[in-house]
Amino acid sequence: MRIVHLSAELAPIAKVGGLGDVVYGLAKEQVRKGEQVEVILPKHKRLHLSKLDAIKKFPTPLFVHEFPVTVWKATLESIPVTLIEIDHPNNPFERDSIYGFSDDPFRFIIFALAAQSYLSNQRLDILHLHDWHTSIAALLSIDTKGTVLTIHNMRYQGQCLPEELKIAGLERQREKLKDPHNPEMISLLKGGILFSDRVTTVSPTYAKEVLSPPESYGMERTLKQKGITGILNGIDYDYWNSAYDPYLSVRYRRDHWEELQESKRKNREEIQKKLNMSKPKGPLVSAISRLVPQKGPHLIKAALKETLRLGGQAILLGAGAPPDIDKEFRELAEEFKSNRDIHFHFDYDEALGHELYAASDLLLVPSLFEPCGLTQMIAMRYGTLPLVRLTGGLADTVVDGKNGFSFRQSDPGEIINALKRAFTLYQANPLEWKKMVEEGARSNFTWTHSAALYRALYSEILKSKNA
Ligand code: ADP
Repeated sequence: MRIVHLSAELAPIAKVGGLGDVVYGLAKEQVRKGEQVEVILPKHKRLHLSKLDAIKKFPTPLFVHEFPVTVWKATLESIPVTLIEIDHPNNPFERDSIYGFSDDPFRFIIFALAAQSYLSNQRLDILHLHDWHTSIAALLSIDTKGTVLTIHNMRYQGQCLPEELKIAGLERQREKLKDPHNPEMISLLKGGILFSDRVTTVSPTYAKEVLSPPESYGMERTLKQKGITGILNGIDYDYWNSAYDPYLSVRYRRDHWEELQESKRKNREEIQKKLNMSKPKGPLVSAISRLVPQKGPHLIKAALKETLRLGGQAILLGAGAPPDIDKEFRELAEEFKSNRDIHFHFDYDEALGHELYAASDLLLVPSLFEPCGLTQMIAMRYGTLPLVRLTGGLADTVVDGKNGFSFRQSDPGEIINALKRAFTLYQANPLEWKKMVEEGARSNFTWTHSAALYRALYSEILKSKNA
């Protein structure tokens, strides 16, 4: 089957969050299964090109309107990757980050047009679109038997003025694409929902949650009419493997308890040394997160402080905060600057992320909503118990008292109670703790199952088209 993914991100060459991991993990599994796969993404300025092999320029020059498009082909491990460069006076992808610009809708519409131009004269079985950034491609004439849109986060919809559709010649669709919350605007994601054959999202619970407010962000009617399927994300078991992880000082097999415990202790000592932290007796509690409202920053804050009160050690690795949240956390860091039991690292740091999964005992994931969430699954794979708010994919993967801890309401009292329960268990019942860690480490979050579900969905589409 010839499957083409259109995406803004692809880990590890262009990653902001889970989207990059998911496209990488799914494409890799599809290649392994013998599918003919290709991932197309913009040639972002800050791509980690060193991770790509056999980069070469595609010989034919292409155009979007009068703007030249250069196409680069490469491979990322086993995955064929196509990078699209657009010579436009606004330099849409010559930017220091992947998103966050006022002309983002324009940047991704022109990317979809360039991809369309590259794909002309090619016959696809499945065009797989990811999030609002590539949704508009569902409305373009691309020779594909079927189109799937996966929504990784309903909150981001690519709202923009209808005039943005002009460059794609799609002004006639403005009525259909009208944003239900703001009729002056259109939603690019809505276009993807309406014009794809099937819409999926990244966990079964989130697939239910997005059918009503607040998680629907105005799309409840559109989604109910269309239907949406939840397929839980996997994680890449080669990449997230404590036995081979190149970022770790001490690697370990998660299914050997003594080895796991001993290595966790050593990895923790390494971190304490590296970050100039003390060596308290209690557990190490971490949060590895984008610091945006979705991730429950007020709950993270409450839990970090409570960790200290309970005699534990806390580390926050957080990036991407908007100014108000950034200010709050920097003030907190200032308040605790002479306390060596807590450390704040405001950056995206892949290496420190791995080290923290390996060294921590608990990982905080108190999201207000969470389409799937990867960090809780990664944590379990490293023998770290997740402490989560029961929402979306967190509710599909964490069972309180079995492989982690959970709470329901988004008020600080609830996370504090859950944290107290976790500390009590850690201190008073090491056998039960061991049982839970082992249960988490045994969980199967590989891509094999999820990729098979996508494959079945693709086949259904193709069958219905042939019928
Ligand atoms: P989201 O996509 O909403 O950010 P996910 O849980 O789906 O959340 O995926 C987050 C991914 O990004 C994980 O691989 C996690 O390890 C990584 N990550 C998040 N924040 C950081 C950070 N500050 N530094 C390093 N890795 C991070």
